[in-house]
Amino acid sequence: MDVLPDSPGSTNSLADEARNREYRIILSQLRRRGLWMTLPEPLETAFCRQHDERAATAFSSTATTIFVLYASLGIAALVLTGGRGLGYWPVSFGVFLVFILIAWLLSFTTLIHARYQQVVASLAAVAVAVAVVHPHLLGSGGIQHLVHEGTIYVMVIVYLGLNLRFWYAVSAATLAGGTAFLVTWLSGVDMQWQLGIATYGGGSALGMVLRFRDEQRERRIFLHTRLLALDNQRIQVLAGELERLSFLDGLTGVANRRYFDTTLEKHWRACLRDNRPLTLVMLDVDFFKAYNDHYGHQDGDQCLRTIAQTLSRQAARPQDLAARYGGEEFALVFPDADAAAAEQLVSRILDAVRQLELPHAVSEASDVVTLSAGVATIVPTVHATVEDLVKAADQALYDAKNAGRNCWRLRQVRALNA
Ligand code: GH3
Ligand code: MG
Ligand code: MG
Repeated sequence: MDVLPDSPGSTNSLADEARNREYRIILSQLRRRGLWMTLPEPLETAFCRQHDERAATAFSSTATTIFVLYASLGIAALVLTGGRGLGYWPVSFGVFLVFILIAWLLSFTTLIHARYQQVVASLAAVAVAVAVVHPHLLGSGGIQHLVHEGTIYVMVIVYLGLNLRFWYAVSAATLAGGTAFLVTWLSGVDMQWQLGIATYGGGSALGMVLRFRDEQRERRIFLHTRLLALDNQRIQVLAGELERLSFLDGLTGVANRRYFDTTLEKHWRACLRDNRPLTLVMLDVDFFKAYNDHYGHQDGDQCLRTIAQTLSRQAARPQDLAARYGGEEFALVFPDADAAAAEQLVSRILDAVRQLELPHAVSEASDVVTLSAGVATIVPTVHATVEDLVKAADQALYDAKNAGRNCWRLRQVRALNA
């Protein structure tokens, strides 16, 4: 039996159900009001994975920008101070550049893709610690202000440039800042609290707010994108189902005339290309008007359904097709069946319907429901057309009817273009 587009089986229904459940969960999340949006599993994991993969990929290009901007800060410091009184500043400055470089190189490895948050947050924590501790070690005067401004720069990079998730960014900055202040305090250096709070504290607070807002927006965008994807999947399933229905005959469930036409055309072209035979069998229920008049239309419909199922079973190979041609007429297509095979096939088909033993009290051909059949076989050539094949099968059917019905006849295909 020629394979019609997939029907929605139980697997599809299960998928539909899962899709609907996810849809409802996402909608309820989006409707929720609240400061922080944590997603239910498995959405949270999916969000984090997607976020981190994008962050890691984006970091390759972001790191170069950060490197250039931070290097320009160093050049500006050199120009402003004329290289005097820098003390140990170039060292901490250089350390931070090295960290950016390491993170950038790591962004090309798979390691950072799987563990982006952990790797980058750790590097950022160490870099921030160096950036915060160093201004204090330098002591007062000199380039103190410049270095504190550099700290703000570092905070902006940690919060906005690295695309860390909110809690990782907060942890990295807090851990680094805390460690730095502790080291400075323990080493007995004069703490520049005001400057420290203004640079590190201010930069951190601003960074947290912006990162928080960004992540919330990213989470909402993730949910909206997921909704769109679900909608898209649903549309595709419906489109597939619509296409399938458009090829089915509503009464009998076998392929309809439309599908028959396109499939016959397709087989014709394939057989023409490969020089293979193609057989068409047209079938018509005998004395069916009388059957309807006698048993009623409902029984008539049921009779057509039973015949259709039997014919479907006869079109057993994957390429064979059983279709309702119209009314009480059916058509069977058998690619690769030559005249000898066709004769066997059609005898078997008529037998199968007779063996159903559906009573037909008013038939002049038998006391059970019977079919008449017209067979036409051809090895397609460019001189003939599909219409020639259909016409030959139709004429053969007419011959069978004239011969008393409940039998089959075969006709040669006469090519109209020959
Ligand atoms: P013949 O042996 O020459 O084919 O005679 P027939 O009575 O079968 O042929 P005819 O063309 O005179 O009548 C066909 C009948 O098929 C008439 C119509 O009511 C019936 N028919 C067509 N489609 C349907 C259908 O979907 N359901 C039912 N119940 N009957 C149908
Ligand atoms: Mg008819
Ligand atoms: Mg008929």
